[in-house]
Amino acid sequence: ILPDSMISSGKALQTVGLTYHYHGRPPVLKGLDLEILEGERVGVIGPNGAGKTTLFMLCCGVIMPTSGDIQLFGKQVKTGEFRPELGMIFQNQNDQLFCPSVQDDVSFGPQNLGLDRSEVEERVKEAFKITGIGDLAQRPPHHLSGGEKRLVAIAGVLAMRPRMVIYDEPTSNLDIRFRRRLINFLKSTTRETMLIASHDLEFILEVCNRVILLDGGTISADGIPREIMSNRELMEAHGLEKPHSLIPHKENHHLEHE
Ligand code: ADP
Repeated sequence: ILPDSMISSGKALQTVGLTYHYHGRPPVLKGLDLEILEGERVGVIGPNGAGKTTLFMLCCGVIMPTSGDIQLFGKQVKTGEFRPELGMIFQNQNDQLFCPSVQDDVSFGPQNLGLDRSEVEERVKEAFKITGIGDLAQRPPHHLSGGEKRLVAIAGVLAMRPRMVIYDEPTSNLDIRFRRRLINFLKSTTRETMLIASHDLEFILEVCNRVILLDGGTISADGIPREIMSNRELMEAHGLEKPHSLIPHKENHHLEHE
């Protein structure tokens, strides 16, 4: 694991004029120019329907741009091409976990990379350690709680050692304890570039060093999370609330009495 100062600044993701519209519908992404450097932890915020999930599906090659270009680590994304550099954590784990035990599930990805057994074991052990789910190894994933399932899915992705991981609403349906566990380990890991869509702005504030505000298929703001989220007018103009932790105590007090 590299310290922040040693992270190389190669491009993890680059989009140029990225435009997408679902068949017969107006464009969802409108000429998006975006550059994410290796090692960045980028939060993507914005109202529902802003195009976050569409952007992620384009990154994974599930759908192809209507026009424009999208590159991962300097190589164009192609439909259906498996890119081991990219890991994806979906909002719902029910389709992501399918093996009889957690151990098998977390091993599945690295096994499919064709790694030898000892390497698979080492990676699985490491992923268990990072996510703190070692005690679940022998359990069937479908018997686990939502929070446990999410950590198992994350362990499975990390065991493949991707260079970039996309998280779609990672704190949704997590209780306070699991949310805290997720925050702690995301903050402690600096190996992967992260792209995280979330409505949980306090979470983005704690974990990310950059935030992109996406609305109506374009980037409305891009910068330091604290600076963007403290801008009440900007946030409200895009249907977002300034996070509570950024509201000065006096203002907070005033709100409580409204
Ligand atoms: P977000 O993840 O930011 O909520 P999405 O990328 O899911 O936004 O959706 C962006 C827009 O695209 C929305 O208006 C949504 O209704 C539309 N959309 C999403 N998926 C489809 C689809 N399969 N067919 C047509 N429209 C879609």
